[in-house]
Amino acid sequence: MDNQTVYKIKDSVDLFLSDEKYLMAYYMNTRQRKSFKINKEMILLIEQIDGKHTVQELKDYMTVHHQSDNESVAFVLALMESNRLITDTKVKDNILSVEEHERYSRQINYFSEFLGSEEEGIYGQKKLMNAHVLIFGCGAIGGNIAMELVMAGVKNITLYDYDTVACSDVSRHMYFREEHIGEGKVAALKEELYKIDHSVEVYAIEESMNPYSDIEGYIKEADFVINTLDEPYIGYTSSKISRCCIQYNIPHYIAGGFDAHLASTGELIIPHVTPCVECYAGHFKETLKGWKPKEHPVRERYTEIGGLASMSLFSASFAAIEIIKYIAGLVNISEEYKVRGELLFTDLSLTYLNVMKNNNCPVCGGDGI
Ligand SMILES: [Zn+2]
Repeated sequence: MDNQTVYKIKDSVDLFLSDEKYLMAYYMNTRQRKSFKINKEMILLIEQIDGKHTVQELKDYMTVHHQSDNESVAFVLALMESNRLITDTKVKDNILSVEEHERYSRQINYFSEFLGSEEEGIYGQKKLMNAHVLIFGCGAIGGNIAMELVMAGVKNITLYDYDTVACSDVSRHMYFREEHIGEGKVAALKEELYKIDHSVEVYAIEESMNPYSDIEGYIKEADFVINTLDEPYIGYTSSKISRCCIQYNIPHYIAGGFDAHLASTGELIIPHVTPCVECYAGHFKETLKGWKPKEHPVRERYTEIGGLASMSLFSASFAAIEIIKYIAGLVNISEEYKVRGELLFTDLSLTYLNVMKNNNCPVCGGDGI
């Protein structure tokens, strides 16, 4: 802090006074509250921290009107800054352009609150802009995640899907229109992503996955991988993708194609930290031990397994939040994670599976990081 610094009470902080003795700060972004013991002079000082007065002007004001010394004013300001109540109005941003800063200002504000300072928030935004994200599957979940990530500032994205837009896709995807029916899903989505951000680099891979598909080259190029590919089968594509990601230490998210689970939260997989796809497979094998699948007499039953666009959007948005948090550096890897969960349509309850990382897992066990 120097005497020319101009502070303001942060926009995202609400202040409340009790008996003129206690100040309660409510941090709107993080929903935290903090209480401080306060005196009359401090209340008067706070009233002057309006984003217009320099530190010198605050000191002068307090000296003239309330006989406070400069050291006390500087001490209170430093305390308020370390508690994220006030912020320097002139953050030196040589990381983003003026346009980029303006475009992402709201989320930089948000990141800053969790990361501790506006500068760190800007770095978080830059991490998103530098990340190369690979998405397997451009269905209702994968496609919507792509849209949300590009809106958040991801500039490099690879889309992998071979399918074409069908009539039923128009009622489930936020971006497919009647005019897209028959068009390749990847091409139609790419068009929409450019509409959000004309500077985004979109790489299209129009392929279907099979046991011989060589996906290693694509995965090695990515900083983050998302799987929503339900053909030939989500368990298979997730296993193939997760094994490869673990090998190259690439974080990934299994986000869609969950058979009968219609509003699943999916799961973030950080190699050697959280359970991998094989850990989940082992968990299910153990839980379902003794249960044998009975062949269903109806062959083509998939038509009765339905869902709403809103439920796919819930899954996509949940995944996008976790992915943005991870890439921007808001995830503390020493904390416990939410693993796979599901939103129940009837009572809107959200339940999570209790799956632990298997330290003897043949894919991610052993010598982790
Ligand atoms: Zn594992």
